[in-house]
Amino acid sequence: MALSVHDARIGLHADKTRLVLDLSEKTDFRVFVLQNPWRMVVDMPDFDWRVGNISKPVKSGITGVRQGKLQPGISRVVIDLKGPVLIRSVFVLPHQKDKSDRLVIDFRTASRGQFLEQQKGQVFGKLKVIEPAQMNTTLMSMPVPASPQAASKPLTKQVSAAGHMALPQHKPSSAKWEKPLIVIDPGHGGVDPGAIGANRAMEKHVVLSMAKVLKKQLEATGRYNVVLTRNKDKYLRLHQRVSLARKQGGDLFISLHADSIGKSNVRGSSVYTLSEKSSDEQTERLAARENRADLIAGVDLSAEDEVVANILVDLAMRDTMNQSTFFANTLVDEMKSRGIHTLDNPHRFAGFAVLKAPDIPSVLIELGFMSNKNEARMLASAAYQGKLAKTLLQSIDSYFRRVRQNQRS
Ligand code: ZN
Repeated sequence: MALSVHDARIGLHADKTRLVLDLSEKTDFRVFVLQNPWRMVVDMPDFDWRVGNISKPVKSGITGVRQGKLQPGISRVVIDLKGPVLIRSVFVLPHQKDKSDRLVIDFRTASRGQFLEQQKGQVFGKLKVIEPAQMNTTLMSMPVPASPQAASKPLTKQVSAAGHMALPQHKPSSAKWEKPLIVIDPGHGGVDPGAIGANRAMEKHVVLSMAKVLKKQLEATGRYNVVLTRNKDKYLRLHQRVSLARKQGGDLFISLHADSIGKSNVRGSSVYTLSEKSSDEQTERLAARENRADLIAGVDLSAEDEVVANILVDLAMRDTMNQSTFFANTLVDEMKSRGIHTLDNPHRFAGFAVLKAPDIPSVLIELGFMSNKNEARMLASAAYQGKLAKTLLQSIDSYFRRVRQNQRS
């Protein structure tokens, strides 16, 4: 990695706040603002972040500085703000005597209106960031076990025989079911930490380690192929997780999360499936929180809204939703029988963006609450992760047992 950022400083001036990033060399950049929450975003070619603690004067309006990999070749710094700001200028200062090359961002507080105006139209810098549509091919180069079903997922509508449980019937060859491919999706990652625990642990780390434990257990049975959407701490857009699962020919998609809310006494697991209407208000808010993963990393979603509407229609047609529900209920039963603490009505539904593969039964699991001290500690422990994995394994086993039965009948 050629580029490194070795210091970050915030300076207060009468007419502006100045943020300076010390760089190892001059670089292209892209800087813009995002709201909800208020943020400034700095994209640069991959860099090595060597910045220690940054002192953040209250008057600067900067409440946090995060960074991580955005996509191959591009890393991102996210500057969390207390309120709306207006960026006045962004420029690179060439090195002098004892000073290195620097990226300088000057900004001041602004009205909401000014901020939104800037968000709409203004990007500082000339860094080219490849749009996601072109990115998929890069992502797909991730190593995965050979999977015979990868290329041949049928996309046509299949009508299931009347009276049957709504279970997968659309796979023509039973050979495919000999070793189903389970796609495990650890939520968040990279620049997006997810929920922060009462013990300061981050959701992104907890769910990744949980995913690895589950993968190990599944593979040890010899009955499943397993792919993780990410196996390290990197950022993936929600739709990339879905398209990765589809490209691999996944037979079941499991997204792992751990929630956080204001009430620290609330704890328990819950399982979610996709639906146009939410089962309840709490779940609707949860879906909004989880769907914000893209926003937090600073991705414009407007282009995707239409695609989503079409996918919902597709989903209903293909019975995928019923299959997802069947798996969710199987899992909830298993959790209860193993004494895993769950929420009331532990199977709920809402419009989760990551559950929108039209042809793969998909669930999102909130393993528990990071905001509950005890549960945050349990979620990070090997023993509890092992127990959760075992529960998932049992549910996956009984799900595919039913699928095979259904195929034979
Ligand atoms: Zn999450």
